[in-house]
Amino acid sequence: MMDLKNYNNRDISNDYIYMQVEETPKTWQDKFKRVVKRSLKGELFVGLWIVFREMVKFDIHTVQYPMEKLPISPRFRGLHEIKRLLESGNQACIGCGLCEKICISNCIEIKTKYGAKGRKVVNSWTLNLGRCIYCGYCAEVCPELAITHGQEYEVASEQRAQFLGMADLVTPMDIFKAGKQTEFKGFGSVSPNADENIKKAPLAY
Ligand code: SF4
Ligand code: SF4
Repeated sequence: MMDLKNYNNRDISNDYIYMQVEETPKTWQDKFKRVVKRSLKGELFVGLWIVFREMVKFDIHTVQYPMEKLPISPRFRGLHEIKRLLESGNQACIGCGLCEKICISNCIEIKTKYGAKGRKVVNSWTLNLGRCIYCGYCAEVCPELAITHGQEYEVASEQRAQFLGMADLVTPMDIFKAGKQTEFKGFGSVSPNADENIKKAPLAY
């Protein structure tokens, strides 16, 4: 075994492989020649030709975001939406707390209280967007189909902890009255074969 002294003094430079070692240019003329030699290679014109060829096709794939946006998959899990009941216009959330319990990021907080006639009402419902990972569990578990994922994805914020309350997420009244509350077909919405599965436990399908 090699001792420490020999190990520290070992010379491995004989194993180096030197590849195309150029002499460093000394004069400005030599430096200029090297710049020209390195810059004007055949590959440059091949690259320019490819760019030109693609340019004249006018088959442009670049999206001018945010003026242009690509279509989003119906199953995209964007910012949460809280629905209103179609019959009454009230918020569909009953404050059961299942979304709060299932949330793996611990970002939903619900506070409830007893309302008139001793019924439970939602006092506050907040979502910390800084923690949410858009897993979809809350929408999946909601027994009232009150919470779904919408298609809004522009949720950047200057604050790491950006809290949204129920009022921020619930369908605005004017949109609801105009009958434009969208029943999103992705996470949290009624599945197309819901009638067949109505007798099963909610998460069995
Ligand atoms: S999408 Fe996931 S992380 Fe976000 S609030 Fe719902 S359960 Fe929590
Ligand atoms: S699971 Fe649905 S009904 Fe229950 S508290 Fe959450 S949003 Fe409201």
